Order: sequence, then structure tokens, then C-alpha cells
Amino acid sequence: MKKIGVLTSGGDAPGMNPAIRAVVRTAAYRNKEVIGFYNGYDGILKNNYIELNRRSVGDIIHRGGTFLRTARCDEFKTKKGRKKAYKNLEQLKVDGLIVIGGNGSLTGAKLLYEEFNLPVMGIPATIDNDLAMTEFCIGFDTAMNTVLDALNKIRDTATSHERTFVVEIMGRDAGYLALHTGMAGGAESILIPEIDFRLEEIISNCKAGIKRGKLHNIIVVAEGAGKKLKDETDDKRSIGAIIGNHIKKELSVETRITILGHLQRGGSPTAIDRIISTRMGAKSVELLLDGDEAKMVSFDGKKILGVNLDEALSKEKNIDMDIYNLARIMSL
Ligand code: ADP
Repeated sequence: MKKIGVLTSGGDAPGMNPAIRAVVRTAAYRNKEVIGFYNGYDGILKNNYIELNRRSVGDIIHRGGTFLRTARCDEFKTKKGRKKAYKNLEQLKVDGLIVIGGNGSLTGAKLLYEEFNLPVMGIPATIDNDLAMTEFCIGFDTAMNTVLDALNKIRDTATSHERTFVVEIMGRDAGYLALHTGMAGGAESILIPEIDFRLEEIISNCKAGIKRGKLHNIIVVAEGAGKKLKDETDDKRSIGAIIGNHIKKELSVETRITILGHLQRGGSPTAIDRIISTRMGAKSVELLLDGDEAKMVSFDGKKILGVNLDEALSKEKNIDMDIYNLARIMSL
């Protein structure tokens, strides 16, 4: 293995930059070349790349986003597109590819391996933290801290005005970000896609809180929660808006709806994200150089490991029910 390709794809996540830096510097340490493709798989298809050396990844460890930029590339989803990509990689003499991204991006890498035998490594990076077989994905810790900061501020105003706040959190179909930040932020209710809920339940929780003399009521809701409810009522509004308006109507309490949106995706990576990214980036190079193929680097809470990419992508990541139940007990 002489030359390694690296790209970032799908949604950006804080920590992608330190991961690229670690890939480049570990490879340089082992006397290997690295080229970085711009805009995810689109960069391979368009031969849009840059040769990277130790210096080209200087001064990026603290930056959110990804300096290689990221994009969604539909052409790569077709077999024809992937064949073209493989041909371009072959011409550039890329012997192995490291893909930093979420489920979709890593699925693309897996297909490159299955269809063309190209050695690939996946680095899980998504604030949704929804990839199985790894405790943490790159970006999750930073996003948690960003949400927590917002929740602290919302709590100040919620308490001062004795208001109810419904805060909608990102996560696509996953509830990790909402669950963990809801717990860390002391939310009164946490609604996630993995656990069904009824509107009446939320109302009775709110009533019980008011009765106990709670000055504020913070309801954290994951953007993907309440699918069943939305389907049944054919309500197209965001789940945060549906819940907030229902509370207003049923309880006549002042209710504010805050959708945190894209501010959750940006920001300087936290120490934990920088350390995990650096370790994952380095490990992905080591695995490639050791002759491993089609692995995902993973953090088991202590060590960085290489796990089977196919297995990681085929497994569902389950919510930790201990954390969910503990958060419930804390809010009573
Ligand atoms: P994420 O990686 O954050 O889950 P997406 O699901 O949007 O983001 O995927 C990012 C990109 O990865 C897509 O635009 C496409 O180029 C590639 N990709 C996603 N799914 C597949 C797939 N099933 N086959 C091939 N490539 C895919």
C-alpha cells in the first residue's frame, strides 16, 4: 500500500478535520502518500482532489466542519457511477480509501469493496451517533455540548418566566442526541423515535409537574419522534410544533417551541471529539497498512478497534434503556 485516499461525505460533523489530519500524519509517519477528495464521492467522480502532506493539515484540529468539504452524490449510488469512481481511483493509483461519514457514506465504501475489491476503511462520523458497534461517532460529543449549552440558556428563561419549552433536537431517525442531552440538561420529558408516546401522557406529566410546583417544564423532542402520531393525524408540522401547540391548547400555559436546527452541526470539536477523531484516523491507516479490508474503526468506550464494516452497517443501534429509565426517574 503506497497511496491512500481520504474523503468526508454526507452530513458534516465536528471532528472530521482532526480525523483527516490524523490520517495524513499517520500515513506520512509511515512514508505513505495521501490524497484528499473534495466534496465526498463527487470528488472522485470529478477528479477533484488535493495531495496532502503534514503541513496541509496544519491549523485545522480546532475547526468544525471539514476542509475537504462534504456533499451528497447521487451518481455514486448507481453501479455505473461507482465503476467510474473505481476507474478514477485506479488511475490515481489509490490502493485504499478511507471514508469519513455516516451510514450512507460508509455503505458507499462497503460497495466499493464488494464490487471492486478496493480496501476501504470507514470512520463513523455523525452527530446522530446512529452507527452500531461503536459507542461514539465523531461529532456526537460536540453536538451534545452545543445542545446542552442551548438547554441551559432555555432553562434560565423558562424558570424566570415559568414557561414550558418544547425543544426539538436533530438526529434524523435516532434519539441519541435527544436522550443524552435531555438527561444532561435535566429535561422533564424526553421524546425519542425509539419509544412510542401518547400526547395524553405528556399532558399528564406537565400537569403533575405544575402540581409539584415546578417553575419550568422543558420537553426535549427528537426530530424523528412521533412518526406514528404524525401518520395517524396526517399533520405535516414538525413534531416539536405539534407537541407545543397541543400543550398550549390543553393546558393554557405559555409554551415556546425552539427548533435548534443546524447550529447543532457546527462548532469547534470538543476535546473528546478531537481525541476520538485522532485515534480513529490513525487506526484506520494502521489497519489498511496491516492488510485489513472493509473495516470500520470503532470506539468501545476505552479502545479503538477495527470491526467488520458489513456487520456494523447491518446492525441496528439500540437505545440504552438504562439511560432512558434513569432520565425518567430524574425528572419525576
Ligand atoms: P450520511 O453518510 O451522513 O448517512 P447520506 O446518507 O446522505 O449521508 O450519504 C452520503 C453519500 O454517500 C450519498 O450522497 C452517496 O454519495 C453515498 N451513499 C449513500 N448511500 C449509498 C448507497 N446505498 N450506495 C452507494 N452510495 C451511497
